[in-house]
Amino acid sequence: MTGIIQRFIALCLAALLAACSAEADNADMIIKADHVVTMDADLSIIDNGAVAISDGIIIAVGTADEIETAYEADQVIGGDGTVLMPGLVNGHTHAAMTLLRGVADDLALMSWLSNYIFPAEVQFVDSEFVRVGTELACWEMIRGGTTTFVDMYYYPDTIAEVVDACGLRAMISATVIDQRSPDAEDAGDSLRKGVAFIERWQGKNNRITPIFGPHANYTLNGEQLAATREAARPFDAPVSIHVSESPFELQYSKDNYGMTSIEMLDDVGFLDGPTIAAHVVWPTDREIPILVDKKVGVIHNPTSNMKLASGVSPVAKMLAAGVRMGLGTDGTASNNDLDMWEEMRLAALLQKVDSMDPEVLPAADVLRMATSGGAKAIGLGDTVGSLEVGKRADLIQVGFDDVHHVPTFDVISHLVYVTDEQDVETVIVDGRVLMRDGSILTVDTERVEREARAFGARIKKALDERNRSR
Ligand SMILES: [Zn+2]
Repeated sequence: MTGIIQRFIALCLAALLAACSAEADNADMIIKADHVVTMDADLSIIDNGAVAISDGIIIAVGTADEIETAYEADQVIGGDGTVLMPGLVNGHTHAAMTLLRGVADDLALMSWLSNYIFPAEVQFVDSEFVRVGTELACWEMIRGGTTTFVDMYYYPDTIAEVVDACGLRAMISATVIDQRSPDAEDAGDSLRKGVAFIERWQGKNNRITPIFGPHANYTLNGEQLAATREAARPFDAPVSIHVSESPFELQYSKDNYGMTSIEMLDDVGFLDGPTIAAHVVWPTDREIPILVDKKVGVIHNPTSNMKLASGVSPVAKMLAAGVRMGLGTDGTASNNDLDMWEEMRLAALLQKVDSMDPEVLPAADVLRMATSGGAKAIGLGDTVGSLEVGKRADLIQVGFDDVHHVPTFDVISHLVYVTDEQDVETVIVDGRVLMRDGSILTVDTERVEREARAFGARIKKALDERNRSR
């Protein structure tokens, strides 16, 4: 008798579910996974989960059963053997420098900049260089699961056009620097051109945020830095800058301004507005509270800091103090790639060995820096960085069936300590699929490879000639 009642109840439930599904809401896309790592405040992970997307926005997050009962979608992306998570946020890049990758290695920052990078840029960089280099970088970032990046380079309109076409999300800086650059004569000229760039791009596309990128306080003086902040203010535009990167800068700042970099920036009013500070390797104990107080987003770039021997940033100390921390690769000429998985791993390992404490900067903290925390650091915390209803649909599906994921005890540990770029299978930004099953859909990779190789040959020939004439 009990069996009959149970069967009756089951039938009723099935009928109810069928009725419900007949009235299911529409979604553009449902994407599923064995584990949905939401990166919400509680670090919730939903097993056998799914996300529903409509008009580029996340409209539901839950178990696959719940989502498929409530929504009917035009496109369903299955998720066996995968983890779904927010796309990675690369808080500091010079994307077009992919074309200068490996031009000069194993040098100190100032020698590398003055003897190789700045001269090479003046000689080769034009808008065509920036177009091809940025396309190459976008291809590499999509392949590796980065969905948002903060860029600082020349010809920002060209960068914005490439980002617009390839579908990524970016904050794109108009670089301000007081020396002849590929696209301006001096600081005043670069600032004027920057204002025009912001006017052209602000509010045009939700994926593109035009910002200012004053280079550093050793390539610009206090007056020029203050003028950059004043120019940004009417647009409420953030500024991205290299801060407290190397012992050279520390000394330069003390010699020229009588104080260290962050105090100097604060002194000229530069920090009175949204600021993204790349590096921050040498903050003093007096400066860390300034970063908290002024809500400065700090972007840690462990590979670049190690490669240029800039030092070890006190990341754990800044996090504990309440600084908004994100993660970045820096340009590929000092990294030499745009791999945020490697950056996460190195960030964790570097803090541990530096403090001789394996408990420092655990995996979850690093994953936060690469997703929700990084998004907050760059001022996009309400828009992206976690899988939550109302946020833009920037998400990636990571394959967990490769041998290095067998077996998996802790998904977050695997994302930080095991996963690499080749595990990323699907990349979606603003609801648009940019990569599916490892195939890039929005960059003409054959053409970009051909053009990048041609640039490489030209640069190599010129460098060989320069070396011969020395
Ligand atoms: Zn940089």
